[in-house]
Amino acid sequence: MTQSFQKVRALTGMKDVLPDTSAQWEGLEATVRDWLAGYGYRNMRTPVLEHTRLFTRGIGEVTDIVEKEMYSFTDSLNDEQLTMRPEFTAGMVRACIEHNMLYERPQRVYALGPVFRHEKPQRGRYRQFHQIDVEALGFAGPDVDAELIVMLARLWKLLGLADIRLELNSLGQAHERAAHRAALIEYLEQHKSVLDEEALRRMYTNPLRVLDTKNPAMQAMADNAPRLFDFLGEASLAHFQGVCERLQDAGIAYRLNPRLVRGLDYYNLTVFEWVTDRLGAQGTVCGGGRYDGLIELLGGKPAPAVGFAIGMERLLDLCSQAGEAEAPPECQVYMIHQGEAAQRRAALLAEELRDAGLRVIVHAGSSGFKSQFRRADASGAKAAVILGDDELASDSASVKWLRQEDAGEQPQQESVGFDRLTTVLKNRV
Ligand code: ATP
Ligand code: MG
Repeated sequence: MTQSFQKVRALTGMKDVLPDTSAQWEGLEATVRDWLAGYGYRNMRTPVLEHTRLFTRGIGEVTDIVEKEMYSFTDSLNDEQLTMRPEFTAGMVRACIEHNMLYERPQRVYALGPVFRHEKPQRGRYRQFHQIDVEALGFAGPDVDAELIVMLARLWKLLGLADIRLELNSLGQAHERAAHRAALIEYLEQHKSVLDEEALRRMYTNPLRVLDTKNPAMQAMADNAPRLFDFLGEASLAHFQGVCERLQDAGIAYRLNPRLVRGLDYYNLTVFEWVTDRLGAQGTVCGGGRYDGLIELLGGKPAPAVGFAIGMERLLDLCSQAGEAEAPPECQVYMIHQGEAAQRRAALLAEELRDAGLRVIVHAGSSGFKSQFRRADASGAKAAVILGDDELASDSASVKWLRQEDAGEQPQQESVGFDRLTTVLKNRV
């Protein structure tokens, strides 16, 4: 007796990318690699799993990610606390420290891949999503902050995207944040009645994050709170000015958003987000900034750093709004055959065609000509190559041009000797 098996489905918030849409992903990835190479960025691949303490330390205990979004578990084999990376930066920095990459020279590096956060799934918010993560490690000046932002403006242009705005702020340095923090806590204490539960819990541990709230009832309070920007000293303001001037040089518009604080603890000085109205509630496509303290915090020799992460799902959503990408054809040549001898010959001929760089599908199984032609049409191939007894006897194949415009002056179907098959197809497919 066969036992019925409950169908297994993908996890909530984790999406399959199917063949019809994977071409968009691959196209975007190829564009991104070229774009990054144009600025000297080199690829890194760090593990998906890391020690939990890397993230609790690197991201900060009192953050959305560490408090409630991490996929963490105990490895039952050795009792280690592990976490699926919720972002790239901590792992990238760990790897650069571990491999002494920062002793010789600064590094421009990037990574692409999945990250994991246990959030409520909705449009633009998933539990496994993908980031393009870019980090410039060992650079202190505003020149690199500006270069990263200019780079991003180029990416939007390469992808044909409009309506993405730049928001900019400065978080200053630790002593400036400390002075602001005292003023902010005092302000929050005066407005306790409008604070939600999360805000009350965070007002002493991470008051800045209270201002990053999405709670509409707290917006007015947050708008009128003391602004960190007003606590910045001369050096921080000069750094910010340096970024702004370079953005003006490049003709990039920005808006100073004094409430922009970013979700992670490790940022200082420049922070920025690129946002759009075209994605519903999840409008942030890219977030980044400077994190000069992180390398030392994670045990490395102190070195400044700046970087950003782009959410690929949100970016692809924008790309598909900008223009419907057509799924590429499965193959260029579809081989149709009748009888075992013809099938075996077709398989060998197909290998020769592939030697010449053609993309070929040989029909699998035995079906009538009619259904094979239907499959050939659906495959998007430009030519069907037909082999039956007559063709085998005359050492030739029938070639049928499936797209009218490719037939040219030639008849729609013609007989081509096996010895000429590769050349004829190569010339016209
Ligand atoms: P949000 O405010 O939307 O939660 P965040 O500040 O948590 O964003 P970052 O940690 O800065 O996001 O991640 C960088 C980018 O990754 C975001 O700008 C966004 O495009 C994307 N992103 C973040 N969380 C998700 C998610 N759950 N699903 C899909 N994309 C996401
Ligand atoms: Mg988030």
